[in-house]
Formats: sequence, C-alpha cells, structure tokens
Amino acid sequence: MTAGRVVIVGGGGAGDAAAFGLRKNGFDGEIVILSADPDRPYDRPYLSKEFLRGEIELSKVYLHEEDAYSKNGIELHLGQQVTGGSLAGRRLTLAGGTEIGFDTLILATGGSPRWLPGLPHAGNVFTLRSLRDSQAIRDALQASARVLLIGAGFIGAEVGASARSQGKDVLMVEAAPVPLARALGEEVGQVYASIHRSRGVAVRTGTTVTEWHRSGERVAGVSLSDGSREEVDLVLLGVGIDPNLQIPIVLGLPTEAGGVVVDEGLRAAEGVYCAGDIALHRHPILGRAMRVEHWEVAKGHGGGVAGSVAREHAPYSTLPYFWSDQYEVSLEYRGNASGMDELVWRGERDALRFSVFYLRDGLIDAVLSVNDASTNKAGGALIQSRRRVDAAALADPAVDLVQLASVPA
Ligand SMILES: Cc1cc2nc3c(=O)[nH]c(=O)nc-3n(C[C@H](O)[C@H](O)[C@H](O)COP(=O)(O)OP(=O)(O)OC[C@H]3O[C@@H](n4cnc5c(N)ncnc54)[C@H](O)[C@@H]3O)c2cc1C
Repeated sequence: MTAGRVVIVGGGGAGDAAAFGLRKNGFDGEIVILSADPDRPYDRPYLSKEFLRGEIELSKVYLHEEDAYSKNGIELHLGQQVTGGSLAGRRLTLAGGTEIGFDTLILATGGSPRWLPGLPHAGNVFTLRSLRDSQAIRDALQASARVLLIGAGFIGAEVGASARSQGKDVLMVEAAPVPLARALGEEVGQVYASIHRSRGVAVRTGTTVTEWHRSGERVAGVSLSDGSREEVDLVLLGVGIDPNLQIPIVLGLPTEAGGVVVDEGLRAAEGVYCAGDIALHRHPILGRAMRVEHWEVAKGHGGGVAGSVAREHAPYSTLPYFWSDQYEVSLEYRGNASGMDELVWRGERDALRFSVFYLRDGLIDAVLSVNDASTNKAGGALIQSRRRVDAAALADPAVDLVQLASVPA
C-alpha cells in the first residue's frame, strides 16, 4: 500500500470521491484537498434542477456534513488556488506563494464555463458552474419574467425546464441547426427540441445573437441573426466548458483533445492521476480514449483512482453513464458513441418512451433512453459484453434484452 501524502487538486465530485475512496480502501497516510471553490464539495447536478427551483435546502446540496472531513482525516483547504508546481520536486505552489509537497498527486480540476466574444459582463448575464452561480441565478429568477438561454445543451435545457416550471417566458437560442446533434445524433436532437417546444419554450435553432442591447448595468435585449429583436430580463450562457488544464500543463503532463492523457487506470505519470472532466481516459471496454463531462463518471473516476493509489494500479472499466431530468422526461445514457454510429430505435418515439442504440461495426457503443430505464440497464450489459447484436433484435420490443445479454457470445 502507498503511504505518505496524497494531495488532491479540486474539491468537485471527482476530488471528493477520491478522498473518501482512499479512506474506504484503507489508505492511512495524509489526504489533502486543495480547492479554489470557497464552498465545501457539493452535488453539482442539483444546481440546475431542484436547488435552482428552490425545492431543496442548501444543506442537502453538500456531499457531506461539515465535520465528515476532519472525522475521516481529510484536510480540506477551501478557497485555495493552485498556481504552479513541479513533478520532479513533488510540490505545488498556491496563489500567495505557499508550497506544499506531495507523494501522490490527484488532479481533478474540472472545467470553467466558456464566455462568448462580445457578450457584456452585465449584472443579469450568468454562467452556471458553482453553487454561488446557482444561488445568484435563483435570486435573479425571482425578479425576471423573460429568460434568454444561449445554447441548447444540457445546462441550458435544464435551466430552461426549471424556469418554465416557474412560469417564466423562455427563449432558447442555439447556433446549430439541431440541438445536441453531435452528441446524440440529429433525430434524437429533434425529439429533444420538440420536448421543449411542447412545453412552451421558444427554441430558435440555427440562430445567433448579433447585438447585445444594454441598459445601464443590464442587458435589456438582443438582436438575433433571424432579424428579430427580443427583450430579456435574465441571460444564461450555456455554451460548454473549457477543461481547467493550467496545472497539468504547468506540470508538463501530456494533453490532447482538451484533456490530460491518462492510461486505462487514469494515471498520467508515475504517482500522478487525473479524474473527472479533465481526464482523457482510454476506456478498457470501449477501447477508445474519451473525455466525459458527467457527474457519475467524475465520482467513479475518483473512486477508481483511490483504489489504484491505496491498493494496486488497475484499469477503470465502469461504463460512462449520465442522466438528465427535464420536465417529466427522464433521459439516461450509458456508454460513449463515437459520432459516426449506426442508430437503432426501440420503443415508442411519439409516446416519449424509447431507447436508441448507437452501434459501430456491429457492436453497441452507447444506449440512450427516454423514460425507459430497464432498456438502458440491459443495454449497458450488452455494451459490456462486446458481442455483436442483430439490429433487428434490438429494435424488436418482443425480444428480451436482459436474456439477450446473458446468452454467451
Ligand atoms: C449546473 C450543472 C448541472 C449538471 N447536471 C448534471 C447531470 O444532471 N448529470 C450529469 O451526469 N452531469 C451533470 N453535470 C456535470 C457534472 O457536474 C460534472 O461533469 C462534474 O461536476 C465534474 O466533476 P469534476 O470533479 O471533474 O469537476 P468539478 O466538479 O468542476 O470540480 C473541479 C474543482 O476543481 C477546483 N479547481 C479548479 N482549478 C483549480 C486550481 N487551480 N486549484 C485549486 N482548485 C481548482 C474547482 O474549484 C472545483 O472545486 C452538471 C454540471 C453543472 C455545472
């Protein structure tokens, strides 16, 4: 077992899971979390859903009670930005100049929301990543009737659904012709857009903002590329994140395609691991390098790294999984599609109870389900089995997928 001091940079889902995972795996050395966030680790997915709508209290959003860290011998340093360091010297530097040494380093720095060129930094323009962002948007929503969402990705869509449920007028402006087409395929993107339209959201695709109209400290309206002008009370920018790679780059770790290159066991260099949104992980089952920006993946990575550090280096093979709840629509996704896949539909598209399988060379790489949890789970088993499946059997609701997955290849 490795002893000594493990330093974790990042107090998000991945960093927190790594710290508690180390103790669960019997690690008895020092554990230090350095987090730039002033708040102790919290459940980020709540920030666009239940917490934003005021349905749950702040205390429910934190991942642990305040004293759980000291009880588990985890030193949690909040509001501490790591600014530099050296792998050879086994040390990090904090803003302000303090240095801290490590034996093992776990980097879980997540991502920062992108900003658009020309978008004013006005009092009613928000991005959503942190607890404090969510608190600020929640307060601002109270006094807003018209909400403009820039970007129809998951953050925009979830905030849109939350704002609609509070009776706000919601306008979603998306530059791409079909939302989420790159991630989920055009047909699924169309279904997704229609769900929002049917709930009264104005979804304008293939559209961009051409001018921001200010009134004092606020953005009061926008001109759009379709020639229209809209008045707004609140603007939420949801155009993705840039992974926080400053520290991996300073440390000289290999980066590619927006992530830190790690092996099947999430290791970037001897005694250095990466987890969560920044990790470009070579997945042992799917056989490709992938960077996934989802909560369960971040937590799973943290747990996987903890096992490797506390016990022995091992591949991390849990399939990527995410969910998104919008209105009464529950979306789940397992695996990772490569973008050029064959799609097989199963179930009732119009009744919003269906699954879509993404196949590559006859193998299932991913399964997306809308209000169809059992197919999603069985689809996960089929992905894991890496066996060729007949597309007609997948599409046939009479075929029992659980049984299909259990038949030897
Ligand atoms: C509003 C919202 C809703 C979401 N909903 C869902 C959902 O429904 N389902 C889903 O699957 N996923 C969802 N996600 C995505 C999911 O939350 C992320 O994939 C996940 O949080 C990534 O975890 P992470 O630990 O890699 O990074 P983060 O959670 O971003 O944590 C990174 C941490 O590193 C710290 N940090 C960064 N740089 C430094 C530095 N130099 N020094 C010190 N500390 C630093 C940050 O302060 C932060 O504490 C959502 C995300 C958001 C923002």
